[in-house]
Amino acid sequence: MSEDFYEVLGVSRDASEEEIQQAYREKAREYHPDVSDDPDAEEKFKKAKKAKEVLLDDEKRRMYDQMGHERFEQAEKRGATGGGGAGGMGGMGGRGQGNPFGDMGGMNDIFEQFFGGGGGGRDAPRQGQDLKTRLSVSLEEAYEGLTRNLTVTRPETCPDCDGAGHPPDADAETCPECNGQGQTTRVQQTPLGRVQQTQTCRRCEGEGTLYSETCSTCGGEGKVRNEATLQVDIPPGIQDGQSLRMEGEGAPGESGGRNGDLLIEVRVEEHDQFDRDGDDLRFTKAVSFPQAVFGATVEVPTLDGSVEMDLDAGTQSGEVLRLQGKGMPRLRRRGHGDLYVQVQIVTPSDLNEEQHEALEAFAEAGGEEIDVEQGFFEKIKNSF
Ligand SMILES: [Zn+2]
Ligand SMILES: [Zn+2]
Repeated sequence: MSEDFYEVLGVSRDASEEEIQQAYREKAREYHPDVSDDPDAEEKFKKAKKAKEVLLDDEKRRMYDQMGHERFEQAEKRGATGGGGAGGMGGMGGRGQGNPFGDMGGMNDIFEQFFGGGGGGRDAPRQGQDLKTRLSVSLEEAYEGLTRNLTVTRPETCPDCDGAGHPPDADAETCPECNGQGQTTRVQQTPLGRVQQTQTCRRCEGEGTLYSETCSTCGGEGKVRNEATLQVDIPPGIQDGQSLRMEGEGAPGESGGRNGDLLIEVRVEEHDQFDRDGDDLRFTKAVSFPQAVFGATVEVPTLDGSVEMDLDAGTQSGEVLRLQGKGMPRLRRRGHGDLYVQVQIVTPSDLNEEQHEALEAFAEAGGEEIDVEQGFFEKIKNSF
């Protein structure tokens, strides 16, 4: 089979754009690997596609006509023809990999930043999206670490069409909108000159092929939403707002691309006794006036059972004592933070008569002039 692009397509040297497209469509239909029995179909399909790409590009066609087939191919290998799709595109997956700014020479990198690159048709491997979800744990759970079952609804590859979006026996037809390229090209005027912008074909959504039937399970999406239950290991010491990443548990990749990840943001609930500050915990301990005055051993709760704490004689309200290593475990490290205990002296508010008198005596003994408002017990006494 001749390599000459005109002969590959079976058109004359002065064929119009229309004739070239028509010829390509026929070849594509004949040799589309999805429909043809010809063992060389894929190779022939690629050649026809290549021929069409060159002959439909005015600049390249002119070069091709001037140079002839062999010299053109050599020039293309060197990148001298502007690079668009040169150097042997990878198999059938070639569509979408062509450089949309083929004739802009060295400007490509800059323009790819502006327009997000050449987009990649459906056959280019694409990584699945990362998915995000949240879960809440108690402070106790964050202290211990735990394994939690998490049910997520996420897209998965359609089991009935294996992600193709159409039944395996559906008839395939080259998309007439983009001639199987999966992309349409639009010329745009920018401050830096004329730029060709390539877009995914709307009709075939970049696939380059239209199918007679759509998969009824996924409606052609190639994906279905499924509930999955995953076991999440939550390590001891996890902080509020931290995310766990489960690799490959996100949306499925396409055309061999890897799956995305599942990101789980962990919320650690507030605790009614402890405030958390990083790996440290804070707790307020209520003590009586005499305990503070004389010193005492008091019980303090921790997330790992209660402990005894010594209170010195003369402890002031608001004083903070540190219980080393009684805080949260350090995430993925050894050791624990500390527990800071703030002492709060409770002022008695429901004294009995005996306490009342004792406290008055206490004040007087200290030379304190107190003008005690007639209290409850005085009132009772005086009423007799
Ligand atoms: Zn399906
Ligand atoms: Zn199309």
